[in-house]
Amino acid sequence: MNRRTLLKTAGAAGVLACLPGKTTAFAADPKSSANASSVETEIYRLKLRHTWTTTMSSSTYRDILYVHYHHGGISGVGEGAPIVRYKEDAKGAQAAVNSVLPLLDASDPTQFEKVISEVFARIPGEWAGKAAIDIAMMDWMGKKLGVPLYEYFGLDPHDAPITDFSIGIDTPAITREKVREAAAFPVLKIKVGLDTDEQTIAAVRSVTDKPLRVDANEGWTDREVAARKIDWLSKQGVQFVEQPMPADRIDDLRWLHQRASLPLMGDESCRHPADIPKLVGVFDALNFKLDKTGGMMQTYMMIQMARSLGFKTMLGCMVSSSCSITAAAHLSPLVDYADLDGNLLVANDPYRGVTVKDGKLILPNRPGLGLLPA
Ligand code: MG
Repeated sequence: MNRRTLLKTAGAAGVLACLPGKTTAFAADPKSSANASSVETEIYRLKLRHTWTTTMSSSTYRDILYVHYHHGGISGVGEGAPIVRYKEDAKGAQAAVNSVLPLLDASDPTQFEKVISEVFARIPGEWAGKAAIDIAMMDWMGKKLGVPLYEYFGLDPHDAPITDFSIGIDTPAITREKVREAAAFPVLKIKVGLDTDEQTIAAVRSVTDKPLRVDANEGWTDREVAARKIDWLSKQGVQFVEQPMPADRIDDLRWLHQRASLPLMGDESCRHPADIPKLVGVFDALNFKLDKTGGMMQTYMMIQMARSLGFKTMLGCMVSSSCSITAAAHLSPLVDYADLDGNLLVANDPYRGVTVKDGKLILPNRPGLGLLPA
């Protein structure tokens, strides 16, 4: 399938853009009482600008979940982008959120910590669904206090890092075209992990000499082969290599870390707080995503935990709209690296929030997430 056909396919998928899926429990009118909460969930189909391929999946669209939280005349919105790797999908995320609607409807959002803890206790898995609830409540809280969320967390927006721009796995010709289209970004993240890795990097290097980050997404299964690939990449202007081998191959990853000629970043190996201490000596840096950890509160805590153990940190993302990307961006002054470009891959983003100038994340200084309609 050539690129034109791919784009047409993406356009056709867009006909299905907005799936009905709104559910409101208890038919509570958010405006009827200052003390009532009400929550709606909505599955939304994001159309992608290019077919997005990694070692895990290939698609022209992604279904995500929005959670709208209303209380006292203020509304917050959150988003979860379910991760295929963890066998999550939008319908499962929606069902999980709907299963706690009575809890959310009875909740006092000024005590969000208690509410989020209870949500985590009641919902097994479904991290993207939990993230959507968390983000919606944080957006509500920021609006209630009248402060942007970076300010709520005590962060300086000028410390927000540059974000790289990700290039999915593709043919050399399309890879070159994508790299040219990413001219505004000073750093690129290149997806590898197949037997075409050298071809892919050669295609990138035929167009640009920018620093690269490389993400193998667990694709290399032989540690000797991984070590040789990393040696080769170390001569290609690469800053670090992300998740070179499968998440659970900790002994092999530790071996690789000891001899690797580039820093290693953990992503799929690092999902929950208890994973972090086990990864000392395995990775130099860890990648945190709201959809993997379950939202802003959990991610803030995990980033601080990782920093205290000496890790460099990165905020990453799934393909998402500006809602989820802006939520992560509000925490980005905390981290060394950002890979927050998921909204830039989307053709029908319903929101505007964080923007990018010469690669640097510019945080909105409006209350809460600071989102506006697109
Ligand atoms: Mg990754």
